[in-house]
Amino acid sequence: MDDNDQAPSELETLTLALLHSRGEVERLRERELLVGSLLAGLNAVLWAFDWDQQRMVYVSPAYERIFGRSTALLLADYGEWLNSIYPDDMEYAAQSLESVLEVGSVEQREYRIIRGDGEVRWLSDKCFISPPNLFGGQSLIVGIAEDITEKKVLQSELHRLATSDVLTGASNRRHFFERAEELFVEARDAGKPLSFLLLDIDDFKKINDRYGHQMGDRVLQRVSHCGAYVLRRDDLFGRIGGEEFAAVFPYCDAEQARQVAERLQREVQRLQFPCDGVNFGVTISQGITVLREGDELEDLYGRADAAMYQAKRQGKDCIVIG
Ligand code: GH3
Ligand code: MG
Ligand code: MG
Repeated sequence: MDDNDQAPSELETLTLALLHSRGEVERLRERELLVGSLLAGLNAVLWAFDWDQQRMVYVSPAYERIFGRSTALLLADYGEWLNSIYPDDMEYAAQSLESVLEVGSVEQREYRIIRGDGEVRWLSDKCFISPPNLFGGQSLIVGIAEDITEKKVLQSELHRLATSDVLTGASNRRHFFERAEELFVEARDAGKPLSFLLLDIDDFKKINDRYGHQMGDRVLQRVSHCGAYVLRRDDLFGRIGGEEFAAVFPYCDAEQARQVAERLQREVQRLQFPCDGVNFGVTISQGITVLREGDELEDLYGRADAAMYQAKRQGKDCIVIG
């Protein structure tokens, strides 16, 4: 038999096996680098959590960038993740995570975090229970937490554009009546008081004619700001026509509504508009009504409108309760 045909020695076999496993190790390392760079490039954090041990067992490299916090600290202590959740969202984040144990997966989960540098970001954090044959039979919750801050900003900007009046920033007519209907139904069903107010700027056409359309716009903006300033947080205020505004006061009877209207009247009377070296002022007429048995929203609107026209007939710059 030729020397070359001899079976490999034990040493040769070991050397070949070693070379082969080195190649395997090299390939695995390359694959790990590839997966690592893909995960780092994602604007989302992949994570795996051991529920029984309450321990984070894996978090992808994007964690440090998105959370601005150290991965080592998080792997050592799950409290680090909890610390990063915005306090108002903590209960929701904890409950929705726990619910995955019952339902298997939670697709819709959004909450805010506070990064290590104090910046607040929005996350969409989908999670599900890992299949039992993975991770050595350990049952883990795995998730993907995506940074959706820019999307949220865009959404709220779109919402603002769709619901507010461009000139004054008050609710636009459509949004005002949608919200007014909701507040009306709430008050009616709960048997609570509710007031409706209509406001119209007096002799506005003359303001436009004398001082120009731009100055007219300025008057609309300042009157609207008075409304926003005087009303409470839960009140609704909108521009429902050219120089006509409306408000809904939930839980307010006629007397309380009159007090708000009087403050509004005074705030508007105080406004001063400079033009060609002199100042001019404006006045408003207001009509108020309260929710009565059997009313629909149109009935309130109709009575407030009639009261407001009564205020015009009485000489303007006054409040009438109808
Ligand atoms: P009254 O005291 O009876 O309410 O009279 P008025 O002049 O205020 O009411 P009128 O309805 O006669 O005129 C309203 C004017 O409001 C007419 C319209 O050109 C003007 N107007 C409507 N929308 C705008 C706006 O966005 N900007 C400006 N500058 N003017 C507007
Ligand atoms: Mg007017
Ligand atoms: Mg008008």
